[in-house]
Amino acid sequence: MREDEVVERFRRTRALLEGHFVLTSGLHSTNYLQCALVLQHPSEAEAFGRAIAERFAGQQVEAVAAPAIGGIIIGWEVARALGVRSVWTERENGRMTLRRGFAVRDGERVVVVEDVITTGGSTRETVEALRELGANVVGAASIIDRSGGRADVGAPRHALATLDVPTHAPEVCPQCAQGVPAIKPGSRQP
Ligand SMILES: [Zn+2]
Repeated sequence: MREDEVVERFRRTRALLEGHFVLTSGLHSTNYLQCALVLQHPSEAEAFGRAIAERFAGQQVEAVAAPAIGGIIIGWEVARALGVRSVWTERENGRMTLRRGFAVRDGERVVVVEDVITTGGSTRETVEALRELGANVVGAASIIDRSGGRADVGAPRHALATLDVPTHAPEVCPQCAQGVPAIKPGSRQP
């Protein structure tokens, strides 16, 4: 799947908006990304899953692990395309780990999958948790990389599309300076 097709699927489902937005962090941006809005469509999730799985063809992947919540749907679809099982990590006392009876074998070849990588923090924590449990993490992937390719997750990394989305503190936001009203996404769309 080509990068422009990935972006088009996000635009079509309003998972990627252009305008003037207040992000959860309080920073302002010209783009708003909400992967859940594209992944609510099983056909889109399935297509992204197949495209990510192709990146790992021939690598004898035995399981997919995804950080909850964001990674669960896409992790499942990658696992389905690879014909392997899908587990997810979540926090227990602040530490990312496998719960619910999920386990990995010693040396098991695992890929870590997330919807979007911003700083790479949750993917990196999942990679480290799996290694501590004995897994062989052969790679990591996300649908979108919004770090502009800079995130280091401690494993070879793939993304279907890379976005470099500039953010600004409100005081130095160019759109604020022009008097453009900022929208807080998640509130009702007009
Ligand atoms: Zn602004």
